[in-house]
Amino acid sequence: MFCDLHMHSTASDGTDAPQDLPALAAEAGLAAFALTDHDTTAGLPACAAAAEKAGLTFVPGIELSADPGSLDGGPDGLRRGTLHILGYFVDHDDPELARLESWLAKVREQRNPAMVERLSELGVQIDYGEVLEQAGGRVVGRPHIAQVLVKKGYVKSIHEAFARYIGEGAAAHVRKDRLSPAEAIAAIHHAGGLAVLAHPVQLHLPEPGQLEQLTARLKQAGLDGIEIRHHDHQPGDVARFARLAERLDLVVTGGSDYHGTRKQNRLGETGLERAEFEKLLATRAGQG
Ligand code: AMP
Ligand code: FE
Ligand code: FE
Ligand code: ZN
Repeated sequence: MFCDLHMHSTASDGTDAPQDLPALAAEAGLAAFALTDHDTTAGLPACAAAAEKAGLTFVPGIELSADPGSLDGGPDGLRRGTLHILGYFVDHDDPELARLESWLAKVREQRNPAMVERLSELGVQIDYGEVLEQAGGRVVGRPHIAQVLVKKGYVKSIHEAFARYIGEGAAAHVRKDRLSPAEAIAAIHHAGGLAVLAHPVQLHLPEPGQLEQLTARLKQAGLDGIEIRHHDHQPGDVARFARLAERLDLVVTGGSDYHGTRKQNRLGETGLERAEFEKLLATRAGQG
């Protein structure tokens, strides 16, 4: 694989420090990679510096969580799926992106303790301080809560933590306020980036026409591309998403969604070939 354009560091819910990712990417045989932490660009400077030393091409990125239910003209019944928008080639100093990041951090600071509270009502006692410790003080998310649940012996795995307690619709799940997809796309553009629909399978859209409708609507809001390759995508999905990208004239991306030891996704397991990456660079160069 030439490049892997989807990975997380300790700046969000990955387990490798941003400055350690380039060596791992080189070890995986990659020539280029992107760091795409949830809701933060905090890891980008350290990762960029280490990538330069390692002689790798680095794409500064971000992955913003958006609300699939707030898209006017989108398909109905979308409230439960996951809508993530990847931003590529973003300026980590952009004030508009920084404003969104601090809003998103506040939203997490409200939701996370509420989820710990709900767990306690269910007889599952964990200390929010331990969750913060797991997170290392950066973007705090459900995977950190899940890890504490495993550590305390309440569940055997992170998967079980989501299924029983903190996954969408589970007993202790608390929904957080999310950005509208249009806001997410606009902020990425403001920061000079390209906006890409992440892992479309996680939208959990039962009918193929719904994904087309949603993606077309996102394109009207400025979407530039679709992540066709991802750890969660079967070969049939990749082909389907590639055809959709072609029909809607969207650029294609791909990546592993590596989270270190917190997920099974392996660095470099999927991504883009060189020619595809060059197309992405050309799209960026052609952006107004
Ligand atoms: P948050 O943004 O805090 O709501 O958490 C989202 C993170 O939880 C993302 O990194 C997802 O990959 C992860 N996640 C969501 N559902 C699951 C699941 N069922 N098992 C493991 N990780 C999950
Ligand atoms: Fe994650
Ligand atoms: Fe994601
Ligand atoms: Zn991700």
